[in-house]
Amino acid sequence: MARISSHATRRIAYIYSEEYAELASRLPSNVGRSKKIHALVDAYGLLRAADLTIISPRQATIRELCRYHSRDYIEFLRGAEDGESSSGDDDNVINDDDHADSKEDQLEKYGLRYDCTVFEGIAKYAEMVGGSSIEAAMLLNDDAFDVVIHWDGGRHHAKKDMAAGFCIVNDIVLSIMELQKIHKKVIYIDLDVHHGDGVENAFQFTDRVLTVSLHHFADGFYPGTGSGTATSMKTKAVVNVPLKSGLSTSTLVRIFDEAIEPLYSTYIPDAVVLQCGVDGMTGDPLGKWNLSMKGYGECLKRVLTWKKPLMILGGGGYKTTSAARCYAYLTSLVLGKEIPEEIPEHEYFEDFKPDFMLHIDAGMQADENTDAYVDDIRKLVAKQSQALQI
Ligand SMILES: [Zn+2]
Repeated sequence: MARISSHATRRIAYIYSEEYAELASRLPSNVGRSKKIHALVDAYGLLRAADLTIISPRQATIRELCRYHSRDYIEFLRGAEDGESSSGDDDNVINDDDHADSKEDQLEKYGLRYDCTVFEGIAKYAEMVGGSSIEAAMLLNDDAFDVVIHWDGGRHHAKKDMAAGFCIVNDIVLSIMELQKIHKKVIYIDLDVHHGDGVENAFQFTDRVLTVSLHHFADGFYPGTGSGTATSMKTKAVVNVPLKSGLSTSTLVRIFDEAIEPLYSTYIPDAVVLQCGVDGMTGDPLGKWNLSMKGYGECLKRVLTWKKPLMILGGGGYKTTSAARCYAYLTSLVLGKEIPEEIPEHEYFEDFKPDFMLHIDAGMQADENTDAYVDDIRKLVAKQSQALQI
C-alpha cells in the first residue's frame, strides 16, 4: 500500500471489539451494519496498520451516563428488557394488564416505542456506545492519541430524558462534556443528512462548544429543526446549514471551504468532533442527497489538516454496504494509506455485488442547492462567524 506522507505520523485509536460490533449490529435501524463496517476495514488490512491501535470499548457507568441523561431514563433503560415475556396466571390478569399499560406508557415517554424499539442487549449497547465515546475523549484529553475513530458512535438525536431518531443515548454530548475537562473550546461538525438536534440542545447556551450541523431541511423531514434562523438566535455558537435535495459532492466541498473553514479559523477550537453520518450518500433509503464517498472524504481531509485533537464518529447510513465502503475509505484517509478499488475477499464479499468496487458513483439527481443559495448560506454563516469574534 502506498503511504501518503502528510498524515503518516498520527497516533490513531480505533474503538472496536467483536462483542461490541455484535451488540451494535442488533440496533433495529442498522441491523448487521456494524459487523460489516469493521469486517471491511479489517479486510483492507487497516486494523493491522502500524499507526493504528485498537482500543476495546467499555461500558459507561450509570453515573457517567447521568452526567447528561436523566437518572429515571437510564434506570428505565436498564430494566427495559425485563418483563417482556411475563405470562402471569389467572389471579393476576388485572394486575398484569395494569402493568402492561404502564410499561407501554413509559416506553412512549422515553421514546422507546416507534423508531427506537427495545432489543436484546439494549442497555449494554447504550452503556457501550456512551462509554466508548467517553473513553475516546479521555484518550484525547491524555494526549495518548491524535485521532480516535468510533464508527459505532455519533448518536446525535438522543435527548436528555429519551431516545430519539434511532439513538438511545447521546454519546456525542457525553464525549464533548469529557473533552471540556481539558479543552476550553470544542467545535462539533455534523455531516449527517439529519439535523444534529440532540447535540445542539445540549450545548445551545454555551459558547464553549460551537455546534455546526449541515443537514437536509424540508417540510416533514426528520427532525424538523435546524432551519438556520430559529435556532441560531439561541447563542452565537449554534450554526445550522439547512440544505436542499440532491446535495452534490462539489456543493458540499464548496460549503465546507467557503463557510465552515472560515468559521473554524474564527473560533479556533482546542478539539474537534466530527460526526460522519453517511445517510447523505447517493442511494440511501432515508437520505435526500446525492453525495459520493469523496464528499465525506474531502471534508475529513480538511479537518485533518487542522491538526487538533480529533474524534471521528459515525452516525446515520441506512444502506449498509455504502456505510461499510465509506467508513473503510475514511479510515484509510486518516491512516494516509491508499486502498485498492476492488473490494477484498472477506466474510461479506457477496453483499458488494454487482461491481465489488469501493467507490460508488453519484446518481443523476439534480442538485437543488443553486450557486445563489450556497452564496446565501455563505453569507449567513459569515455573519455568525463575525458574531463569534466579539
Ligand atoms: Zn441521519
